[in-house]
Amino acid sequence: MNTYNPNCDGSVCKSSSGEVRVLPTGGGGNLILCRACYGHEMAYRRERNRRLAGDARFDIPAWESLAVYEVDDDQYKAMRAVKVTFKSGRTLETNINGTKEDVRRYYVGESFTFGTGEGEDEYADTAVSVEFID
Ligand SMILES: [Zn+2]
Repeated sequence: MNTYNPNCDGSVCKSSSGEVRVLPTGGGGNLILCRACYGHEMAYRRERNRRLAGDARFDIPAWESLAVYEVDDDQYKAMRAVKVTFKSGRTLETNINGTKEDVRRYYVGESFTFGTGEGEDEYADTAVSVEFID
């Protein structure tokens, strides 16, 4: 089985984890590469550069010069415990499925109706923040 870093765009990873860095590819694009795949890409570029004219040659940036890519750990999670705070000060603790971004998008700025039970007036309240409990 091949070793594969899920955060790396390359295909010759030597480790399934570790730092990945941003390699600009021109035209606003970039590749997110681990150290091994960066080395592979630079070897490819050096090879290509032999047959390219000076100004058409690929850059060979040093690994140290590349920005470290911050891996987003916001993954989908089932039954995520959250505490939602509303404009009125009311809070609601509940469980919801999704990424943190999904959950924030679902609640923050949205209006929810409370007080559906007997003897309780219905009223709308707007969620202002979500706190992730677990
Ligand atoms: Zn890689």
